[in-house]
Amino acid sequence: QWARVQERLQAEVSEKAYSTWLAPLTLGDYREGRLRLALPTRFMRDWVSSHYVDRLRALWQRENPSVRTLEIVVQPPIVVRRGPEIADSPSIAASPRPAVQPVVAPPMPRTGPPASRTPERSYDDLLGQPDARFTFDGFVVGKSNEFAYAAARRVAESETPTFNPLFLYGGVGLGKTHLMHAIWHAIREREPQRRVLYLSAETFVNRFIQALRAKNTISFKEQFRGVDVLMVDDVQFICGKDTSQEEFFHTFNALVDQHKQIVLSSDKAPQELDGIEDRMRSRLSHGLVADIHATTYELRLGILHSKIERSKAKVPERVLEFLAHKIASNVRELEGALNRVIAHATLVGRETNLETAQEVLHDVLRAADRRISIEEIQLRVSQHYNIKISEMHSPRRSRSVARPRQVAMYLAKILTQCSLPQIGRKFGNRDHTTVMHAVRKIEELKVTDGAIGEDVELLKKLLQG
Ligand code: ADP
Ligand code: MG
Repeated sequence: QWARVQERLQAEVSEKAYSTWLAPLTLGDYREGRLRLALPTRFMRDWVSSHYVDRLRALWQRENPSVRTLEIVVQPPIVVRRGPEIADSPSIAASPRPAVQPVVAPPMPRTGPPASRTPERSYDDLLGQPDARFTFDGFVVGKSNEFAYAAARRVAESETPTFNPLFLYGGVGLGKTHLMHAIWHAIREREPQRRVLYLSAETFVNRFIQALRAKNTISFKEQFRGVDVLMVDDVQFICGKDTSQEEFFHTFNALVDQHKQIVLSSDKAPQELDGIEDRMRSRLSHGLVADIHATTYELRLGILHSKIERSKAKVPERVLEFLAHKIASNVRELEGALNRVIAHATLVGRETNLETAQEVLHDVLRAADRRISIEEIQLRVSQHYNIKISEMHSPRRSRSVARPRQVAMYLAKILTQCSLPQIGRKFGNRDHTTVMHAVRKIEELKVTDGAIGEDVELLKKLLQG
């Protein structure tokens, strides 16, 4: 009988749907008119129950009229392994079986009994793996990040949404991901029953695309329903990707309406995000926008000290000061440099001095020295157009100074890691929208006005050495 039901099913649904959802069904027990079928995960059970159960029952009744009800239960497979963030794994993404196939995470500790209707399995499947080193304890606080740090702590310590959303933004390698993972750990420690989901925007998009391909966007949506705290890292990645973006904002709005806490990070402020609607931009800044500024020398030194303490390696103070002084752009590079110095010392078996540190890091240091500053851009541009450098900050709007100023803003945008507001501040405290306008204008002129195009290329070459 079962074989015939399977055959019929196979003929009725697409090959993909069959292999995904129906082929894994196994026959359970039958008692007093109630037949049970089993699937390996809750997520699959929920999906099949909501989509195919009527059809299944009808087909069974054709074979065996005594079957009155049909129930699908979860029977986990025997092999249990923990997967990485599934959507990030190309081998799984490319295989004909979708990501919801049984890569089963071990059950999480729970204090309360799980509500039977919530799609738990899907939530477990989605769980990323926050880095164990990224905790609040491991985060060194200084002027540039104290605001973001305090906001993150507050969110982690509140049982109901405080600022919704908390929007963290700042340049590359300044600690956004670290803070998000820290929130995750802190909540999980205090309230293990709360469902805190961290994922990168990229994972979100990949999963959504997979869901579209497998034609199961409804279940995709459902995956987020049971979440108490949703954290999406690097949301700038979603902007401009129309369908994913729409889906993301839909999820976002739904969760905010349900008073679920949302934490987002981005390398840009909400106002600077390209390709999203104004309405959404304002919703994103509706909670608390906390930016992480460029590090100060003191913070960098503090971070080095804290890393050294943890690693128990010995590096002379002078070398640490040298690193903090030279590698200013981002903490990730600073850590990388320190690790190299430590590795070198361990391998050659003697303590590093300033000279060996310089040798070991010669390539990193050269790159750091070559980094272009806004001041340098302003200087080169004003020399090129033969105007006073003070015109870069002046309010004058005549074409002869306004155009070079726009060129300088454009170059600052493409050659440095500064955000639009940061650039605006260095041009006589102009608004970020002025900078954005300048960047667009020059992009346009590069195409329509050959002379500007040449100027820009020449200046770029000069600045890049
Ligand atoms: P982002 O997500 O902003 O690009 P990350 O959070 O990935 O940056 O940080 C890059 C690296 O720098 C990580 O290893 C992180 O632990 C470290 N880091 C950044 N800021 C701090 C800080 N204030 N204290 C300690 N480590 C930090
Ligand atoms: Mg990050």
